[in-house]
Amino acid sequence: MECTTSTDDKLCAYLFESLENGEMAAIRKHLAECDRCRKRLDAIRKRMSFLDAWRAIEPPEEFSAKVFERVKRQRRTARALFFAAGALFLFFSGFLIFLAHNMAIDRLAKRRLVLLDKAIQCSRNEHGTYPASLDEAWRFILACPAAKHYLDLGKFEVDASERILDFWGNPYVYVCPGVHNRGLFDLYSTGSNGRNDKGQQDDILNWERD
Ligand SMILES: [Zn+2]
Repeated sequence: MECTTSTDDKLCAYLFESLENGEMAAIRKHLAECDRCRKRLDAIRKRMSFLDAWRAIEPPEEFSAKVFERVKRQRRTARALFFAAGALFLFFSGFLIFLAHNMAIDRLAKRRLVLLDKAIQCSRNEHGTYPASLDEAWRFILACPAAKHYLDLGKFEVDASERILDFWGNPYVYVCPGVHNRGLFDLYSTGSNGRNDKGQQDDILNWERD
């Protein structure tokens, strides 16, 4: 026959002695008489003792160390990646600035060469002949107002021997009669390296590069 006197909840509370005194006594009395409820109480007690025996598993020490080491490694990798990305960004923006800077200087140096070329051409119209040397070109140009106008535009300077200086402060190379510009003159700047590369490398020329 089904016994409805005590529910599992009630037996549980009895086990923890959390019932009123009267109720505790009533259940104790019932348990003495009811075989079925005693068995249920036993089952509940067993379940409880199983939970008591359960403990959170402590990970072995080396396991914690390994996890910690792994987290540290991942953090280091993330930091390294971050710095690498930053360095890459700086490198490329620096490179672009360098490139833009060089292009601007190149343009400026070419413009000055064109101005000097025009000044020499202009002075020739006045003198009827091309100057034989760079310092003579300077004197020819100064004597010719139309030619001097180009000189002023390029803000040219000369060294102690009156040789006209390029963007980098080195004398231009002037060859007359020209080898490349037949019947005229060759004029070039030795460029940023200041070395005469005979129209190669960084030299800036008044003729088409081969
Ligand atoms: Zn019972």
